[in-house]
Amino acid sequence: MGCSSEGFAAALRAAAEVVAEHRTELIELDRAIGDGDHGENLSRGFTAIVSALETEVPATPGAVAKLAATTLISKVGGAAGPLYGTAFLRASAKLGDAAEIDVPLLLEALRAALEGVQARGKAVGGDATMVDALIPAVSAAEGAAAADASVAEVLAAAADAADRGAESTVDLVPRKGRASYLGERAVGHLDPGARSTALLLRAFAEAAR
Ligand SMILES: [Mg+2]
Repeated sequence: MGCSSEGFAAALRAAAEVVAEHRTELIELDRAIGDGDHGENLSRGFTAIVSALETEVPATPGAVAKLAATTLISKVGGAAGPLYGTAFLRASAKLGDAAEIDVPLLLEALRAALEGVQARGKAVGGDATMVDALIPAVSAAEGAAAADASVAEVLAAAADAADRGAESTVDLVPRKGRASYLGERAVGHLDPGARSTALLLRAFAEAAR
Protein backbone atom coordinates (compact mmCIF):
# COMPACT_ATOMS: atom_id res chain seq x y z
CA MET A 1 0.00 0.00 0.00
CA GLY A 2 1.28 3.44 -0.89
CA CYS A 3 1.38 6.67 1.04
CA SER A 4 -1.29 9.31 0.33
CA SER A 5 -0.98 13.05 0.87
CA GLU A 6 -2.73 12.60 4.26
CA GLY A 7 -0.24 9.85 5.12
CA PHE A 8 2.68 12.06 4.16
CA ALA A 9 1.23 14.96 6.17
CA ALA A 10 0.95 12.64 9.19
CA ALA A 11 4.58 11.60 8.70
CA LEU A 12 5.66 15.26 8.69
CA ARG A 13 3.69 15.89 11.91
CA ALA A 14 5.43 12.86 13.45
CA ALA A 15 8.76 14.22 12.25
CA ALA A 16 7.99 17.57 13.87
CA GLU A 17 7.37 15.80 17.19
CA VAL A 18 10.62 13.87 16.92
CA VAL A 19 12.57 17.03 16.06
CA ALA A 20 11.01 18.81 19.05
CA GLU A 21 11.89 15.86 21.34
CA HIS A 22 15.48 15.92 20.13
CA ARG A 23 15.85 19.69 19.93
CA THR A 24 18.24 19.94 22.88
CA GLU A 25 20.30 17.00 21.70
CA LEU A 26 20.70 18.58 18.24
CA ILE A 27 21.58 21.95 19.78
CA GLU A 28 24.27 20.29 21.88
CA LEU A 29 25.68 18.29 18.96
CA ASP A 30 25.88 21.47 16.87
CA ARG A 31 27.29 23.50 19.77
CA ALA A 32 30.19 21.03 20.04
CA ILE A 33 31.37 21.49 16.44
CA GLY A 34 29.25 24.28 14.91
CA ASP A 35 27.22 27.28 16.01
CA GLY A 36 24.57 25.46 18.03
CA ASP A 37 21.59 26.53 15.95
CA HIS A 38 20.63 23.22 14.31
CA GLY A 39 18.09 22.03 16.89
CA GLU A 40 16.40 25.40 17.10
CA ASN A 41 16.33 25.94 13.34
CA LEU A 42 14.97 22.51 12.49
CA SER A 43 12.41 22.66 15.27
CA ARG A 44 11.18 26.05 14.03
CA GLY A 45 11.00 24.75 10.47
CA PHE A 46 8.98 21.63 11.29
CA THR A 47 6.66 23.60 13.58
CA ALA A 48 6.03 25.90 10.61
CA ILE A 49 5.32 22.88 8.37
CA VAL A 50 2.76 21.58 10.88
CA SER A 51 1.11 25.05 10.97
CA ALA A 52 0.98 25.20 7.17
CA LEU A 53 -0.62 21.72 7.07
CA GLU A 54 -3.27 22.88 9.56
CA THR A 55 -4.43 25.44 7.03
CA GLU A 56 -4.68 22.87 4.27
CA VAL A 57 -3.21 19.48 3.40
CA PRO A 58 -2.32 19.68 -0.31
CA ALA A 59 -4.02 17.13 -2.57
CA THR A 60 -0.98 15.08 -3.57
CA PRO A 61 2.15 13.84 -1.77
CA GLY A 62 4.23 15.84 -4.26
CA ALA A 63 2.43 19.03 -3.28
CA VAL A 64 2.90 18.18 0.42
CA ALA A 65 6.65 17.76 -0.21
CA LYS A 66 6.72 21.09 -2.02
CA LEU A 67 4.96 22.80 0.89
CA ALA A 68 7.55 21.31 3.27
CA ALA A 69 10.35 22.49 0.98
CA THR A 70 9.17 26.08 0.63
CA THR A 71 8.46 26.28 4.37
CA LEU A 72 11.92 25.00 5.31
CA ILE A 73 13.64 27.29 2.80
CA SER A 74 11.78 30.36 4.07
CA LYS A 75 11.82 29.59 7.82
CA VAL A 76 15.08 27.80 8.53
CA GLY A 77 18.37 29.65 8.58
CA GLY A 78 21.87 28.24 8.54
CA ALA A 79 22.81 25.42 6.22
CA ALA A 80 19.98 23.12 7.23
CA GLY A 81 17.05 25.05 5.71
CA PRO A 82 18.38 25.21 2.16
CA LEU A 83 19.69 21.62 2.34
CA TYR A 84 16.52 20.01 3.68
CA GLY A 85 14.45 22.38 1.55
CA THR A 86 16.30 21.23 -1.55
CA ALA A 87 15.86 17.59 -0.53
CA PHE A 88 12.07 17.99 -0.26
CA LEU A 89 11.91 20.12 -3.42
CA ARG A 90 13.76 17.51 -5.51
CA ALA A 91 11.62 14.75 -3.99
CA SER A 92 8.52 16.77 -4.82
CA ALA A 93 9.56 17.03 -8.48
CA LYS A 94 9.87 13.24 -8.69
CA LEU A 95 6.55 12.65 -6.92
CA GLY A 96 4.86 14.88 -9.48
CA ASP A 97 1.08 14.67 -9.31
CA ALA A 98 0.90 10.98 -8.29
CA ALA A 99 -1.91 10.28 -5.81
CA GLU A 100 0.21 7.90 -3.73
CA ILE A 101 3.85 7.19 -3.04
CA ASP A 102 4.57 3.56 -3.89
CA VAL A 103 7.93 1.84 -3.50
CA PRO A 104 9.38 2.76 -6.93
CA LEU A 105 8.34 6.39 -6.46
CA LEU A 106 9.74 6.41 -2.92
CA LEU A 107 13.11 5.24 -4.27
CA GLU A 108 13.08 7.95 -6.94
CA ALA A 109 12.21 10.57 -4.33
CA LEU A 110 14.96 9.41 -1.95
CA ARG A 111 17.56 9.36 -4.72
CA ALA A 112 16.48 12.83 -5.86
CA ALA A 113 16.67 14.12 -2.27
CA LEU A 114 20.23 12.82 -1.93
CA GLU A 115 21.24 14.29 -5.32
CA GLY A 116 19.72 17.63 -4.33
CA VAL A 117 21.56 17.74 -1.01
CA GLN A 118 24.83 16.88 -2.75
CA ALA A 119 24.28 19.45 -5.50
CA ARG A 120 23.48 22.13 -2.96
CA GLY A 121 26.05 21.32 -0.27
CA LYS A 122 28.80 19.84 -2.48
CA ALA A 123 29.44 17.15 0.14
CA VAL A 124 30.44 13.61 -0.73
CA GLY A 125 30.43 10.50 1.46
CA GLY A 126 33.00 10.72 4.25
CA ASP A 127 32.80 14.51 4.69
CA ALA A 128 30.91 14.06 8.01
CA THR A 129 27.61 15.59 6.89
CA MET A 130 24.01 14.53 6.42
CA VAL A 131 25.18 12.89 3.18
CA ASP A 132 26.81 10.20 5.35
CA ALA A 133 23.36 9.27 6.63
CA LEU A 134 21.61 9.68 3.27
CA ILE A 135 23.94 7.63 1.04
CA PRO A 136 23.59 4.40 3.08
CA ALA A 137 19.87 5.14 3.55
CA VAL A 138 19.29 5.25 -0.20
CA SER A 139 21.36 2.08 -0.76
CA ALA A 140 19.47 0.24 1.96
CA ALA A 141 16.15 1.44 0.55
CA GLU A 142 17.15 0.10 -2.88
CA GLY A 143 18.16 -3.21 -1.33
CA ALA A 144 14.90 -3.55 0.57
CA ALA A 145 12.87 -2.63 -2.51
CA ALA A 146 14.70 -5.28 -4.53
CA ALA A 147 13.61 -7.79 -1.87
CA ASP A 148 9.94 -6.80 -2.34
CA ALA A 149 9.62 -4.70 0.81
CA SER A 150 6.64 -2.42 1.48
CA VAL A 151 6.91 1.38 1.74
CA ALA A 152 7.14 1.06 5.54
CA GLU A 153 9.80 -1.66 5.30
CA VAL A 154 11.83 0.34 2.76
CA LEU A 155 11.73 3.35 5.10
CA ALA A 156 12.69 1.20 8.10
CA ALA A 157 15.70 -0.16 6.19
CA ALA A 158 16.64 3.40 5.20
CA ALA A 159 16.32 4.60 8.80
CA ASP A 160 18.46 1.73 10.16
CA ALA A 161 21.18 2.49 7.61
CA ALA A 162 20.95 6.23 8.30
CA ASP A 163 21.48 5.56 12.02
CA ARG A 164 24.65 3.60 11.27
CA GLY A 165 25.76 6.20 8.74
CA ALA A 166 25.23 9.02 11.22
CA GLU A 167 27.24 7.10 13.85
CA SER A 168 30.08 6.76 11.32
CA THR A 169 30.53 10.56 11.32
CA VAL A 170 31.93 10.35 14.88
CA ASP A 171 35.22 9.02 13.48
CA LEU A 172 35.41 11.36 10.47
CA VAL A 173 37.25 14.65 9.99
CA PRO A 174 34.57 17.12 8.80
CA ARG A 175 35.24 18.63 5.38
CA LYS A 176 32.11 20.78 4.98
CA GLY A 177 30.38 23.48 6.98
CA ARG A 178 31.54 25.10 10.19
CA ALA A 179 32.72 21.81 11.66
CA SER A 180 35.41 21.69 8.96
CA TYR A 181 37.13 24.70 10.57
CA LEU A 182 37.89 22.46 13.56
CA GLY A 183 39.53 19.76 11.45
CA GLU A 184 40.89 16.90 13.58
CA ARG A 185 39.45 18.52 16.73
CA ALA A 186 35.97 17.62 15.50
CA VAL A 187 36.78 13.91 15.49
CA GLY A 188 34.80 12.16 18.22
CA HIS A 189 31.66 14.19 17.54
CA LEU A 190 28.47 13.07 15.84
CA ASP A 191 27.49 15.35 12.95
CA PRO A 192 24.21 17.10 13.87
CA GLY A 193 22.92 17.08 10.27
CA ALA A 194 23.57 13.36 9.90
CA ARG A 195 21.82 12.80 13.23
CA SER A 196 18.77 14.85 12.22
CA THR A 197 18.58 13.05 8.87
CA ALA A 198 18.51 9.72 10.71
CA LEU A 199 15.85 11.04 13.11
CA LEU A 200 13.65 12.25 10.24
CA LEU A 201 13.90 8.95 8.37
CA ARG A 202 13.07 7.05 11.58
CA ALA A 203 10.02 9.27 12.12
CA PHE A 204 8.87 8.64 8.53
CA ALA A 205 9.42 4.89 8.93
CA GLU A 206 7.45 4.76 12.19
CA ALA A 207 4.64 6.84 10.68
CA ALA A 208 4.44 4.52 7.66
CA ARG A 209 4.01 1.38 9.79
MG1 LIG B 1 24.66 25.29 12.92
